[in-house]
Amino acid sequence: MNRYYCHDCAAVNGMLRPPPKGETLTDNVYKLEKYIKHTFPNSSSHYRTVFTGVSSERYQHYVVTAVASGHVQIDNRNRVNIVWIGSETTGIALQGGRFIGNMKAVKVVFHSDTNRIHGYPISVSEINSARCVQCRRIIPY
Ligand SMILES: [Zn+2]
Repeated sequence: MNRYYCHDCAAVNGMLRPPPKGETLTDNVYKLEKYIKHTFPNSSSHYRTVFTGVSSERYQHYVVTAVASGHVQIDNRNRVNIVWIGSETTGIALQGGRFIGNMKAVKVVFHSDTNRIHGYPISVSEINSARCVQCRRIIPY
């Protein structure tokens, strides 16, 4: 089961670290593959979500924004993920290269693992309502 912390409690607890910037977001094969997967649309048959806009700038922008403003989700393997809900369209979903929907949120996974941290657009419908385990505030808010 996932545990959630609102942004304020996560910040107070020191759970939020500044994300890598610039080339350090893509400085190994794993991160580079994730970056390419989520910034360049292609006709892969798999479901994937892709950020809109100039790829390298948008990618960094959304990873930084999510960490600066998002709430924290700790999954059942104790991995720290961050979810940020935008007021704008963050990206699109594709299946078989075909557009299937707009995304309005961003998820950053492996936030505390500098060798794996990456982000991708997600649909707001993937986000469950939850309460911060610390202050009981409803998330997302
Ligand atoms: Zn809280």
